[in-house]
Amino acid sequence: MSDTADAIAAHLAAHVGRSYGPYRAWDAVNAPMIRQWREAISAENDDAAAAADIAPRSMINVWMMRGLADKRPADSVSDDPYELVGLLREQGYIGVVATRCTQQYGRNLRAGERVESQVIVESVSPKKATALGDGYFITLHHAYSVDGEPVGSMAFTTLHYAPRVQAKKPSPPQPGISDDTRFFWEGLKANRLLAQRCDDCGTLRHPPGPVCTKCHSFGWSAVELSGRGTLYSWTVVHHAAHPAFDYPHAIGLVDLDEGLRIVAPLEHVALDRLADGMALQAAFHNVDDEDRLPAFRPVAEAA
Ligand code: ZN
Repeated sequence: MSDTADAIAAHLAAHVGRSYGPYRAWDAVNAPMIRQWREAISAENDDAAAAADIAPRSMINVWMMRGLADKRPADSVSDDPYELVGLLREQGYIGVVATRCTQQYGRNLRAGERVESQVIVESVSPKKATALGDGYFITLHHAYSVDGEPVGSMAFTTLHYAPRVQAKKPSPPQPGISDDTRFFWEGLKANRLLAQRCDDCGTLRHPPGPVCTKCHSFGWSAVELSGRGTLYSWTVVHHAAHPAFDYPHAIGLVDLDEGLRIVAPLEHVALDRLADGMALQAAFHNVDDEDRLPAFRPVAEAA
């Protein structure tokens, strides 16, 4: 293992100082892009705000972006300053996070000028242990120029890491439990879906609250619901992921047979099978030794 790590380190170190490019910008500096980026980066008040054809200096790297297709124009060289990253990916360092970006600015760019960049591998760290996993920090130095005249530069550092393997899935965030809601969570521990029923007018309510919204009585009792209902609506969460859950994570708004509506995860159903009115049944899941959370699954799947 250390041989492998040493081999990787040596290979990475051999790239330091290597120069790539020159790359040419897809487009000349232009007023429409200046206007849109001025809005995006709130640059109305910088020193050149008055002229629509003068680019904010902090746009310096924008002109060199490769775009979604990740290509360079035909008159750029085709070498790849990120070849190091490909090497690391092959070795399992598949995570990437940007950790630092330092830009230096020369003069403002004007519409019609076409930027070029040269990229130099400035540094590669030794293997580091981080909270995300072991990995390497790579800093690429981008030098920008117009017709040979330097107009700015950027040093961009990224961490490339092998994600830590979670030995055990962490628990979901704990619900905020109050005196009004405690009965609900206690009910789940006994695999019972409970709701409040007003002692005076008999109205059921959920989510739990201190007072009946119909007759304003403070008197209530907990009653057990059937756990049966139909899907009223749903959303599918892709991002941002919490490690306790599997993604994509479907969350349903369920109309319970008793006339209440509840929010809970949906399970045991393909996302493309989710449908309005789908018959659902509650299930209960341990999240640790004591606590349980509800979920809903299609009736045919209910166990
Ligand atoms: Zn009432």
